[in-house]
Parts: sequence; C-alpha cells; structure tokens
Amino acid sequence: MSADCIFCKITKAEIPSKKIFEDNEVIVFHDIHPIAPVHFLIVPKLHIESLASAEPSHQALLGKMLLLAPKLAVEQGLKGFRTMINTGREGGQEVFHIHIHVFGGGANLPKT
Ligand code: AMP
Ligand code: ZN
Repeated sequence: MSADCIFCKITKAEIPSKKIFEDNEVIVFHDIHPIAPVHFLIVPKLHIESLASAEPSHQALLGKMLLLAPKLAVEQGLKGFRTMINTGREGGQEVFHIHIHVFGGGANLPKT
C-alpha cells in the first residue's frame, strides 16, 4: 500500500471504480478515460510501482493478471483486444502502480 496511490485507494474502495472483477489478489475496472469502446485495467492489490520494479516473487501474480485478459475481454464482448503496460515516465506511465491496459471493440486498431 502506498498512501497517495490512486490504484491502492481503488483496491480498498476508498474511491469508486466501475469494477468488472475482483478476488483476493487482483482488481479489474474500466478506465476512466477509455481509448476504445471497451478499455479496462488489470491491477494487482499489491503495490508494485511498475514492470521495471517487478521481481521474481511477483511472477505468479503477473502471470495470473495476463491470463485474466482474454477471459475478461470475452466477457466484455471483445473478439480481439490489445494489451499495454506503460513503464516509467518515458514509457507513458502516469499511475505508478503496475497495471495492464486491455482495450478493443472499435474499428481496426492502428498497427503500431
Ligand atoms: P498509465 O498511463 O499506463 O499509467 O495509465 C493510467 C490509466 O489510469 C489512464 O488510462 C487513466 O485514464 C486511468 N485512470 C486514472 N485514474 C483512474 C480512475 N480513478 N479510475 C479509472 N481509471 C483511472
Ligand atoms: Zn498502489
């Protein structure tokens, strides 16, 4: 837990989210500023700052998050989707609590 972390606050329901999945380790909710008709974030309850600070002890958790992507994408009606993990400021990361973006459902996504 990191005191000023917005995603830690969401995991503790201190601020609301449009949640689509939750268990003891992971929470998944719709992005507040979607970049596609369906856009959700897979977030561990454990505060890990970024992919760059993930460690071998997080391997099972990260694998679990990745395997949730296709399951929840289908539940959200997607036939295909894109995943994205922004890492570090230069990687476009704005919230420093690791998360996987999953989005799709629009016209064709750009190739890059
Ligand atoms: P990133 O640039 O990968 O760190 O992405 C952070 C994402 O979190 C952005 O797409 C934001 O729109 C999203 N976001 C920020 N605050 C919230 C919130 N309170 N609820 C849902 N999504 C959020
Ligand atoms: Zn956090």
